[in-house]
Amino acid sequence: MAVMKIVEHPAQVLKEVGAPVEEFGAGLEKLAADMFETMYAAEGVGLAAPQVGLSLRLFVMDCDGLKLVAANPSILSAEGEQEGEEGCLSVGKIHAPLRRAARVRLRAQDARGEVYEKEAEGLAARCFLHETDHCDGLLFLDRLSPIRRDMVKRRFQKLKKWR
Ligand SMILES: [Zn+2]
Repeated sequence: MAVMKIVEHPAQVLKEVGAPVEEFGAGLEKLAADMFETMYAAEGVGLAAPQVGLSLRLFVMDCDGLKLVAANPSILSAEGEQEGEEGCLSVGKIHAPLRRAARVRLRAQDARGEVYEKEAEGLAARCFLHETDHCDGLLFLDRLSPIRRDMVKRRFQKLKKWR
């Protein structure tokens, strides 16, 4: 397994809609394993393929006891509301409050291509939405109010200077 380089905002690949995953099996299992390793090394709870420079509809997560590989994810239903802080490994883990649905049902394929559905609440539901957004070329920044978005961007610029 290998730790990959995490791509940061404002890289173009983070803004692109990912291509569908069409090949399953050993190659995808290896990629998912590398993505898990990269996510754990960065102390994240979710990581999408565009964040490692691959414009693909794929993410991994290990959040709130829910560990999974999601290829070609789609949100089947999103209900209720939750308030909470959200951050992203591609935006220096700077957090901002963002309202999301409280209960989310996801449909996706595992690394072998098996279709599954999974329902989650709270943080894991937030993770489903955040990572599926990445597959659609969206960052949590795009969902913030303009004022909060500018605040996060400024803090991120400062953080990058200090590295
Ligand atoms: Zn993210």
